[in-house]
Amino acid sequence: MSNQNDAFKKLIAHAKEYGFVFPSSEIYDGLGAVYDYGPYGVLLKNNIKEYWWRSMVQMHENIVGLDAAIFMHPKTWKASGHVDAFNDPLIDNKDSKKRYRADQLVEGYIEKIEAKVEKEVAKGRKRFGESFDENQFRATHPRVVKYAQQIEDLRKRLGSLLSEGDLAGLKALIEELDIADPETGSRNWTEVRQFNLMFSTQLGAVAGEAGKLYLRPETAQGIFVNFLNAQKTTRQKIPFGIAQIGKAFRNEIVARQFIFRMREFEQMEMQFFVRPGTEMKWYEYWKETRMNWHKKLGTPAEKLRFHDHDNLAHYANAAVDIEYRFPFGFRELEGIHSRTDFDLHSHEELSGKKLRYFDPETKESYIPYVVETSIGCDRMFLAVLSGALQEEKIQDSEGKESSREVLKLPAALAPIKCAILPLKRNEERLTQTAREIFDHLKQSFHCQYDDTGSIGKLYRRQDAIGTPYCITVDFETLENRTVTLRDRDSLQQERIPIDQLESVISEKTALKNLL
Ligand code: ATP
Repeated sequence: MSNQNDAFKKLIAHAKEYGFVFPSSEIYDGLGAVYDYGPYGVLLKNNIKEYWWRSMVQMHENIVGLDAAIFMHPKTWKASGHVDAFNDPLIDNKDSKKRYRADQLVEGYIEKIEAKVEKEVAKGRKRFGESFDENQFRATHPRVVKYAQQIEDLRKRLGSLLSEGDLAGLKALIEELDIADPETGSRNWTEVRQFNLMFSTQLGAVAGEAGKLYLRPETAQGIFVNFLNAQKTTRQKIPFGIAQIGKAFRNEIVARQFIFRMREFEQMEMQFFVRPGTEMKWYEYWKETRMNWHKKLGTPAEKLRFHDHDNLAHYANAAVDIEYRFPFGFRELEGIHSRTDFDLHSHEELSGKKLRYFDPETKESYIPYVVETSIGCDRMFLAVLSGALQEEKIQDSEGKESSREVLKLPAALAPIKCAILPLKRNEERLTQTAREIFDHLKQSFHCQYDDTGSIGKLYRRQDAIGTPYCITVDFETLENRTVTLRDRDSLQQERIPIDQLESVISEKTALKNLL
């Protein structure tokens, strides 16, 4: 556990030190769960968005894009169910005055039992060595079996309390499990009550309740209300999708874990409109397609898994998460939901406008069913960053060992594609040639020119921000117009002619390689 904590702390420190993520308004001591993306962060984030957009919109002729406003007519959120049901169960500790999500307190209790299981398994592995059969151990070891049963029972009970909205039951469960405030140990709890996660603000021209606006808690509703606009103007036929990237806002009760849970964040969502009755086929299709999108980045299979929802949201008839193994454990990275016709139906009812599609094949008008893929851009950023950061021992050309912090980002996502480094800063012929190369390459990629240190130091700096290629201009360059191209991961250096640089780097770093 503490190793995991250390790794996570290192990641947060690295993100700040190297200009990826800063706490918001830091000079005023920050703002809870709000973050700013720094000079390299914004480039990495844009590349993640570009990868998503191209694989969803550019690669599918039946998916079109949209950029809806953050503010929407307040009735939108009535229809979507967010005004009435977008709540988390809130509980306060009377002594510490700290607020918690009641369900997360129970989750925390379950995680402690899970940790006990892992401890037993680790002990077993140590004791049995080579002959250890983990599956058999988990299925037969009496204590592990008892813990597993306890976990399953608790999950079931929590799931049904949540889906029934049984707040008194939730409080009773917290008392039964004797759960204390994780920070102070106090058990002096208030009742559990519902807390709506939407931020509200006021429209200037209209006073009172009538002018109350919400900051959207998901981008999806902008897609639903534009469903016919997008379909008609692009002459799409069902099945087709609408994709959108944009900010969403949730007044999360407990926001921890850096950019994993933020109050202002960005979503990349796609709603796929299908003929009713075919939704499960498309649900399976998008499950697989989205998982492959993650794997194409080179993410090891054991760091990704599906997790079916125990209790379904009010709008869904099937839902699964793609979970990623963050430094603090497996957590939701993306959701795939079969949303039925719930949203379009409610909008039709509340607006009085028809939201039906005329199917030329069946000659029928109907409200389509929707399969949604929804991924948090910031969570994806965290997944990419945490998968990439490594500390390595390396040897220089004379065999001297040193360590480096390196971000092994997929080349197509790296903020800076190449750095152009003169071997000696005081040698004008070298710096001038390096500048010329930079001025040429910057037209094609984000690159950097750097002559502010020894070559070893410059390499380290580029490793730390994940630059996949370093170009070194040395004395041989002046003789034959070749440079060395250093690969971040293999540390191999090859000599190539200057006039091939652009095509070689573009080939190696193209987003196309991922599509
Ligand atoms: P969680 O259970 O973690 O609160 P959720 O199930 O409410 O997430 P969805 O409503 O399905 O999340 O939103 C889709 C995606 O948006 C999530 O998979 C996640 O990547 C992202 N997301 C949701 N809430 C946040 C948040 N507070 N900060 C950052 N990303 C978020």
